[in-house]
Amino acid sequence: MKTEILKLLRETDGYVSGQQISRKLDVSRTAVWKVIRRLQEEGYQVEAVRNKGYRIADSPDLVTKEELDSLIKTRWAGRNILCFDVTDSTNLRIRQAGDAGAPHGTLAVADSQTAGRGRRGRSWESPAGNSIYMSILLRPQIPPEKASMITLVMALSVAEGITRCLGENAGADGSGADAGAASGIRIKWPNDIIINGKKLAGILTEMSAQIDYIDHVTVGVGINVNTVDFPEEIKETATSVRKEYGRLVKRAPLIAAVMERLEENYQMFLRTEDLSGLMDRYNDLLVNRDRDVLIIGAKEKYQAHSMGIDRTGELVVRKDDGTIEKIYSGEVSVRGVYGYT
Ligand code: ATP
Repeated sequence: MKTEILKLLRETDGYVSGQQISRKLDVSRTAVWKVIRRLQEEGYQVEAVRNKGYRIADSPDLVTKEELDSLIKTRWAGRNILCFDVTDSTNLRIRQAGDAGAPHGTLAVADSQTAGRGRRGRSWESPAGNSIYMSILLRPQIPPEKASMITLVMALSVAEGITRCLGENAGADGSGADAGAASGIRIKWPNDIIINGKKLAGILTEMSAQIDYIDHVTVGVGINVNTVDFPEEIKETATSVRKEYGRLVKRAPLIAAVMERLEENYQMFLRTEDLSGLMDRYNDLLVNRDRDVLIIGAKEKYQAHSMGIDRTGELVVRKDDGTIEKIYSGEVSVRGVYGYT
């Protein structure tokens, strides 16, 4: 009932009377009042005015099931939510949920992770109270070799979701004008979100598949939202929305914005089973496009000129001898010639 009341309060401009709520939800006015009191105790600023009713003035930065359910307005992305205060890794939780038959679009969100993971066995710093750690379960009916493109679909969705969320709050007048251009958020191929040369978010995609059949795909996302201090090892390469924009951003609306972008972008990906409908937008945000980059593979490291992704999501580069090579994301890291990007 908390979710429904939150939704009703959010959907309404101005006040909703206790009577309206009790009639719509078929509960007593005392029950409504109890929920409102509980919301206030949790930090929601719900104004109660005699003869007018209730109005939500502000919400706390909570990543609870009720808060997310009342904000996410998609058809499937994030409609079934598992919330954790602490967990080892949301990717592990989703993989488990996937094995147990959870539906496409199930989302796990944690306030902190004790074993947050990056690519190739690396770890993801996941302190409590200030950032987003989430993983979504997807059940695409596509050949397994096409699954790596989903990382890029998510990268685009995260970049667009953050930009959109900042836009809604941008500017003293709240108009959000020019937020896209001003956001400065870029993608570092294939799986990182960057701003001013530093990492704002990372993505880890894992697949459970047979040779010719995908059982499920888990896409994990870590976004540094309100982090102020980073550990020594990543101080030079990591940043947060708060550090870059100088303001606190609430996590639940940001998660909702990413889910909305993901749902649309993923449907477009499925229509063609490649990135032909998304690659222009991805390339527009690509930090390592039209640049000299270092390609760091397991066995070799070389410099090349990066031209952007093609519709399969591979990075197209021109080597010094003029030959064109396509790089598959599984194998390599890409760095700027003079630094991280
Ligand atoms: P590469 O650029 O080499 O491809 P990557 O960016 O893909 O690496 P990931 O596996 O996505 O690396 O992320 C893990 C790495 O990210 C860690 O090794 C660490 O350097 C860095 N890292 C860990 N936690 C955070 C964080 N919260 N914010 C930013 N960077 C982090």
